[in-house]
Amino acid sequence: MRVGIGYDSHAFAPKGKARKLVLGGVEIPHDRGLAGHSDADAVAHAVTDAILGAAGLGDIGRMFPNDDPQWKDASSIDLLNKAFLKVVEAGFQFVHADITVIMEKPKLAPHIETMQERLAEALLTGPAHVSVKAKTNEGMGWIGRGEGIAVMAVATLAEPRGPRSSGGLSVT
Ligand SMILES: [Zn+2]
Repeated sequence: MRVGIGYDSHAFAPKGKARKLVLGGVEIPHDRGLAGHSDADAVAHAVTDAILGAAGLGDIGRMFPNDDPQWKDASSIDLLNKAFLKVVEAGFQFVHADITVIMEKPKLAPHIETMQERLAEALLTGPAHVSVKAKTNEGMGWIGRGEGIAVMAVATLAEPRGPRSSGGLSVT
């Protein structure tokens, strides 16, 4: 079993910038979107880093460089799916992802289930294998002032036929 951690943060774009708020592949109605090269889906980015970390495949910035015009305004949920296919190619099986989104506004509760479904689709699994939780930062600091959001993600992968599972020191 392999565990990977992912973290991402994005600032909100100034009002009137016509950016959509997209989290976990779901467009969430809000008067401001997040700033970024792609769609700034911090949830998809954190999960991508978590699965790449667990597989030892580097990180999202290395796989999809943000100075590469082909990823400009890319759909991050599609990038997550692309990264996941690399993870599968490397011999890993997805087990579970747990995600915490930290933001003051808007409330994510009405969107959590859809986010879990979208993320699960990108990971070719069922929504029971993806957990999304949301919290505020209790009004403290830059998150509390609504300047941006942060996301933490942990992903677990199994390596059914990986080289490490055949060794005598395997813990699986
Ligand atoms: Zn990001």
